[in-house]
Amino acid sequence: MKRPASFEKLLTILRKLPSVGPKMSERMAFRILRMTEEEIKDFIETLQDAHKEVRPCVICGHWDDSSPCRICSDETRDKTVLCVVENSQDVQAVGRIRDFNGVYHVLGGVLSPLEGIGPQDIQIASLMKRLEGEPIVEVILALNSDVEGETTAQYLAKQITFLSIKVQSNGRPEGIRITRPAQGLPAGGELEYMDELTLTRAFEGRREFDRN
Ligand SMILES: [Zn+2]
Repeated sequence: MKRPASFEKLLTILRKLPSVGPKMSERMAFRILRMTEEEIKDFIETLQDAHKEVRPCVICGHWDDSSPCRICSDETRDKTVLCVVENSQDVQAVGRIRDFNGVYHVLGGVLSPLEGIGPQDIQIASLMKRLEGEPIVEVILALNSDVEGETTAQYLAKQITFLSIKVQSNGRPEGIRITRPAQGLPAGGELEYMDELTLTRAFEGRREFDRN
């Protein structure tokens, strides 16, 4: 029997969310249908409020309820150390490391020639502009160690090396150091799922980036 059109539409919308397949979308849809009037009203308002209030920071791209975000506006943060991550969830993960007090840059994705994602599709130009204009002395490339993360890290390291030579000749003799967390970021593993201790060790033992 054909399902009601409104129910089909709900399933289609739910399936647009990451990791939601046909089975999961049905479970979610039935749970939504069973909500009381009050619960569904609260659910809709919560979605609308979050969608309206949380947006990417104009400086670093982290999603927060203020822009510049609370991290970029925090005067106690060390603005000379910048950690480059793939997405906003990674900022939350690195934020769990007590000793990391630097700032971030969220790329909003990684390079993927197979999916047609090139340098202009992620926040690389804004990163280079920051590195040139802000007194940053170290960039930590905290990207996943899967193929796309590695490709992106190699690309960025090359660009930052060129930029470092430029800033050195323009009166910043220390240049820009490029580091990456020590081995310990599992292949394909996402930062957000790493436990605090492993993440802290990987950051403490960070080393100079070797370019291939
Ligand atoms: Zn920010």
